[in-house]
Parts: sequence; structure tokens; C-alpha cells
Amino acid sequence: MHLPKPLAQLMKELGKLPTIGPKTAQRLAFHIVSCPRERVQDLADALLEVKEKIRYCSQCGNFTDEDPCSICTDEKRDSGIICVVHGPQDILAMEKTREYKGLYHVLGGAISPMDGIGPDQLRIKELLTRISTSTIKEVILATDPNVEGEATALYLARLLKPLGVHVTKIASGMPFGGDLEYVDEVTLSKALEGRREV
Ligand SMILES: [Zn+2]
Repeated sequence: MHLPKPLAQLMKELGKLPTIGPKTAQRLAFHIVSCPRERVQDLADALLEVKEKIRYCSQCGNFTDEDPCSICTDEKRDSGIICVVHGPQDILAMEKTREYKGLYHVLGGAISPMDGIGPDQLRIKELLTRISTSTIKEVILATDPNVEGEATALYLARLLKPLGVHVTKIASGMPFGGDLEYVDEVTLSKALEGRREV
């Protein structure tokens, strides 16, 4: 197939994005070519701006443009509860429920020996430090409802319980095998409400 080099290059770059197959990459590239210049400029600016301004909150590990993030510094939130999640996308899912008013802790992944990810690769030390230096009453484990998520929750429960905090886990009832970020708000609300001590 003969394509002008810049168009082929754009398709190649778009095709590297998650969930974008060759057909979608082609569709997006052709769309971008036919867009007004200002729209393309806005897109390019937005791409570079996230790279320049977004970093990880030093406390919870969430994406933020100010450190600590707006959740960590929100005095209306209950600083006695920490909800442990795999990634920033899970915080977004929990926030959409509008039920949760505590703080978060992002692990940065799940324990997965097959992928070479052990506890040391996750932000577990940081979690222990937060628990030992503040007045945390409850740690809610909101790990993904899949094998790696369960293994991570089990590991954390064993580690945290001797510290004298309540360790709870959001209720099963979520479809097993999935990602927390894709669970709908109602199901996630119920899972949060039905959390149990582990
Ligand atoms: Zn934060």
C-alpha cells in the first residue's frame, strides 16, 4: 500500500496505543488529516501538556498536577480510611460511586510472579509508612477481582493486620476476572458498602 510517509508514520504511532488496532489507527489518522489545523493543534497541545504537568502524588500515588493531590489535601475527606487500589484509573472508578470519602493509596500494579512483579515493585513500603505515621483506622482493599488482585489483597491483609488497623476488602459480587476500573458504579458502590473484615 502506498501512503505518504507522514501519514504512514502517524498510523504507526497511533497503532502503538492500547486497544488501537491497525484499522482504527488508519481511521484515526485519516480523520486527523481532514481535521482543521486548530483541532489538531489542540490535540497535540493536550498530549504534551499531560506529559509536562502530570506526575504522581507523593502521598497516594494518584496522577496530579499539584503535589500532594487535591484528594490528599481535601479536609472534608476522612483521613482515617485508606482505600488501596492498583492504579490511578481505579481512583476514578471509586470517585464515580460518590460513596467513598476517605483517602487512597495506589500500589502501581498487582503481585504477579509470572510477570516478575513482586511486593517490592509495588508501593507497599509507602503504605506501611503512611499507616505508621498517621491515624489510619481502616484500610479497604479494593484490588481487581482477578487472580493477581486476590493474591495482592491476601498478601496485604497478612501484612497489615498485625499493625492493629481494620483491614476490609470490598465485597465479591463483582464479576471475577475483570478490572476494577470497568466495574459499573452501582456494582462498585454495593461492593464498597458490603466490604468485610479480612
Ligand atoms: Zn494524593
